[in-house]
Amino acid sequence: MFSYRGGGLVVSIRRLLILSMVHSEAVPGEQNATGSVEPAFARAFAECRPRTALAGVMVEFCEFAAATSYVSLRDGVLRIRLCDVLRHAPEAVWHALGHVLVSKLFRRPVPRRFADRYRRYLNRQDVQALLERVRQERGRKRVLAPGGVVFDLVERFERLNREYFHGLMARPDLGWSVTGGRWELGHYDRSHHTIVLNRMLDHESVPAYVVDYVLYHEMLHLVFPVERKGGRRCVHPEEFRAREREFARYGDAEAWIKSEFGELVAAQRRQIKQPLRSR
Ligand SMILES: [Zn+2]
Repeated sequence: MFSYRGGGLVVSIRRLLILSMVHSEAVPGEQNATGSVEPAFARAFAECRPRTALAGVMVEFCEFAAATSYVSLRDGVLRIRLCDVLRHAPEAVWHALGHVLVSKLFRRPVPRRFADRYRRYLNRQDVQALLERVRQERGRKRVLAPGGVVFDLVERFERLNREYFHGLMARPDLGWSVTGGRWELGHYDRSHHTIVLNRMLDHESVPAYVVDYVLYHEMLHLVFPVERKGGRRCVHPEEFRAREREFARYGDAEAWIKSEFGELVAAQRRQIKQPLRSR
């Protein structure tokens, strides 16, 4: 990721992968004991709402792209839709999730121990890996096409590829961000293998070498995987920074970003807001 830090503002934006999803075939070595999910949810409901009779429980596993769950109560039937990743969860996790969902349905606070149990399951390494895979396969990344108004990212990528990577880099998906005005110049989304540049940069007032520099920075992320040092993620190791400085107009690009990018974003925001004000 490439964030602008200037004028006392530190606005680094990190997309959170929150509750993602998993694949039905997957969680290895884990089978639930009963094979039937409904009783676990029925039990949770009875514990939450002892005086409310249920006519039935229906649980459906869906190919969601994240660990999203839906709950409703209609004609006395509790209907639950879960990500199919949870098909392989232990019964205790279904039961905990039942408490979470029923509490939400009745706008009650979620008991801590159930929320924790469910979260612990989602945070398990193997479950996280499955969720990540599902996200990759099913999730769609929303970006604008790489051929912008002023700059064509495909063309610029290929030029940089020849100049700095011996033409050896396989092209990832490229695109302009859907929303402008964030203080992020660009980022590489590893799970979607997509380089996204802030669409504010697709503007005639932006020098081509700045667009190239931001794109080049994101291309370096394909070369340098994230390192872990004592549990900390190191996104821009020293070697990365050294390669970054090899960019022909490194100094000019850095200077432009420091002095102009903030103003560019502010100016474009004003333009966007103006029609609203005049009404
Ligand atoms: Zn970066």
